[in-house]
Amino acid sequence: MSTTSIQLPFFQGAGISKAGHKIALAIRDDDDFAVMIVHVLGVERLCASIGHQEAGAVLQEFFLELCAIARKNDTVERLGDRKFLVVLQGLRNRGHVSLAAQKIERIAAKCAATKLQTKPLKTSIGIVMFPEQREDESELMRLAEVASLDGLQKNESISFYEPQSAERLAIDWGLEDRLRRALESGDLDLHFQPQISCVTGDIIGAEALMRWNEPEIGAISPDVFIELAESTGQIAELTHFAIQQACRLLGKWQDSFPGFCVAVNVTPSTIQNMDIVDTIKSASSIWGVRPGALTIEVTENALMTDRDASHAVLTRIREFGARVSIDDFGTGYSSFAYLKQLPADELKIDRTFVMGMLTDESDRKIVEHSIGIAKSFGLSVVAEGVEDAESLDYLRKLKCDIAQGFFICKPLPADDFEAFCRKSAGMAEPAD
Ligand code: C2E
Ligand code: CA
Ligand code: CA
Repeated sequence: MSTTSIQLPFFQGAGISKAGHKIALAIRDDDDFAVMIVHVLGVERLCASIGHQEAGAVLQEFFLELCAIARKNDTVERLGDRKFLVVLQGLRNRGHVSLAAQKIERIAAKCAATKLQTKPLKTSIGIVMFPEQREDESELMRLAEVASLDGLQKNESISFYEPQSAERLAIDWGLEDRLRRALESGDLDLHFQPQISCVTGDIIGAEALMRWNEPEIGAISPDVFIELAESTGQIAELTHFAIQQACRLLGKWQDSFPGFCVAVNVTPSTIQNMDIVDTIKSASSIWGVRPGALTIEVTENALMTDRDASHAVLTRIREFGARVSIDDFGTGYSSFAYLKQLPADELKIDRTFVMGMLTDESDRKIVEHSIGIAKSFGLSVVAEGVEDAESLDYLRKLKCDIAQGFFICKPLPADDFEAFCRKSAGMAEPAD
């Protein structure tokens, strides 16, 4: 089986946008709804038999058919080349949701069958129901994806989320082996989402976001595989990979883009162990990267788990000269007293507040206060989840330092990110 990832026509990049808002609104109104993640299976085989162009057309046809059967309040969104999100409103019981899922299966089968001699397309549909699971929008999407992978493992094409799904999945799915192979084959990769200065509009660096294109089922969300990697004990390996890759690319980019910073995400468990300090030091030295070009992003909640251990590690990271950014700021419960001693250089306002700040009064207040807090503690402040020009303008008015979001650019593969930066700076393409 080929392990190179396939870039199908009609689909570039991935990300979640409007459906997330719709789910958030439904949660707020306490509606009944179901979130489905649909993985289309066997895309390699399809590409091998009818070619990438035709296979891309089949998947696009599937997407359009899904949109056509959706009712007025339902939402259909494409999350990846072969991964789709469907939100069905007003469905209270699993029986009705199953019927809708079966309809989706029939559509998939029909789409491929119309093309020359191919086997029917199969799907793995993962479902989570609200309020059966009372979670926020991103957690509901994650649980639906866990259900879909769980169904795949159990050989069930339609699978509802059960609380034990995630635990069973990590053990039964051979995740350890799959992840190990992914690290070796290049199916695991970093994408880069540009960050710009709100003052000049120039790109100042990027956040590195991990992507896993599993050969059999396509893209799996980092939210899902990072947590699974935590449970199999492979998270240190993944973090090591991310820091090495980020430094390798920084080393390559630093001549053309001096001053660039790349931010790498680390999980709570990683930040309680001094090993990460050695990883950072060795990667910076191998690739000749100045320590200040690397930022370590750690969530506000991660710091609450074991304060002393995480503070000690962050302090060592900063002593070395690398930067520390507090991610998802606003979702935790940091007090002023606590913030004062925080070993950090930057606050990163959680994207849900930024995305809601123009329509929701409390989101706006949280964004304003977060910027104020950052300024009063001498920290720089990043707003992520900037999805439109109005939000960027508003952040400029609030004197936010840095912006990141789909309005500026989605996360891109390293080469595309470099090309994006060159183009933005009015530079020529490199000679090779
Ligand atoms: P995060 O650290 O909060 O990363 C930002 C997420 O917001 C990314 O999702 C990014 O694609 C998304 N995003 C950026 N701009 C916008 C926007 O304008 N609108 C919307 N709706 N979303 C936006 P992604 O790449 O799916 O990553 C999800 C989470 O997975 C990350 O959340 C982070 O917690 C985790 N993650 C990703 N890569 C890594 C990694 O290398 N290591 C670790 N430990 N965690 C990672
Ligand atoms: Ca982050
Ligand atoms: Ca974040």
